Amino acid sequence: MRGVKILNALKVETRDYPDLVPEGEEVVVRLEAAAICGSDLHGLYQRPGEKAFIPGHEGAGVVVAVDKPRFVKPGDRVCIVPVYNCGVCDNCRMGYVIYCRKSRGTYGFGLNGVHATHVRICERSLLALPDSMSFEQGCLVLDPVGTHHHANKRMGTNARHTVAVFGLGPMGLGATCVTAFLGARVIAVDPIPFRRELAKKLGAAEVVDPAAGDVAAQIRELTRGYGLDRAFECSGKPEPLYMALDLVRHFGHVAIVGEQPEAKISPSNHFNRKEITLSGNTCFPLGEFDEIVRLYEAGLPAAKLITHRFTIEQAAEAYATFNAGNTGKVIFVP
Ligand SMILES: [Zn+2]
Ligand SMILES: [Zn+2]
Repeated sequence: MRGVKILNALKVETRDYPDLVPEGEEVVVRLEAAAICGSDLHGLYQRPGEKAFIPGHEGAGVVVAVDKPRFVKPGDRVCIVPVYNCGVCDNCRMGYVIYCRKSRGTYGFGLNGVHATHVRICERSLLALPDSMSFEQGCLVLDPVGTHHHANKRMGTNARHTVAVFGLGPMGLGATCVTAFLGARVIAVDPIPFRRELAKKLGAAEVVDPAAGDVAAQIRELTRGYGLDRAFECSGKPEPLYMALDLVRHFGHVAIVGEQPEAKISPSNHFNRKEITLSGNTCFPLGEFDEIVRLYEAGLPAAKLITHRFTIEQAAEAYATFNAGNTGKVIFVP
């Protein structure tokens, strides 16, 4: 089989790996679509040093070989939830397998991942992809669609709401797509014109360019001084988080999606005086997969997130293109 190897910061090649053999509950999946994630860039591609495993955690494909599986069989169409989970701990039983307490690792971050022609994966890490969904749609389920579907459920977002999305990388674009599909008015903020244009195609009612003036003032004007009902922080920077907390109205909700290790917030100003809620969001509990499938079947235009397609042989170009920033989702296809 062929797979991606990260040799050093910004240095990637495609190379041969031994063909995979299924073993016990681990089955072999042939990848039909696999996306590059921002976390692949920040956590792996941009960091110095060789990585010992194949990257990639957002994928969909077909089961091609099994050993002693209990549920899946060759030919099954699947998308993956990239944690080798136990299936029986408290978090797994609630469907939060990404927080499995006895996890044997994460595919694409330690275990070999999906930027390859094939992956060997625990069958409990597979979701049955219905015939109504393409593999490309399937590879977007985990992060860009699932995370924001889950966050919107927690926030109780509805069509009456005005929702800002700060940062329009693939996650912010996913937030825009899913939130606009619920009927909410989305105000999308990003300095890169390409991304603002894509946000419009995904349903943003307005886009805000930080170069055009104070972002908070622009949003206040767009909301007639009333403020936001909800906000997504997808930029991974502290200033947009502070702005989101300032701009949401009383009883509003800010969903953190972008990764950032530290930020200063004011319990008094933001929470005591405004009764707002701040939540962190990653992925979705498996019970919500059926809801995500329904959204797709109802016409969720998430596939428009995909702007670039490469084969695994073009991995170096694919990573470099995504790293340059003028993209939506960059995916590998056969
Ligand atoms: Zn991801
Ligand atoms: Zn578990």
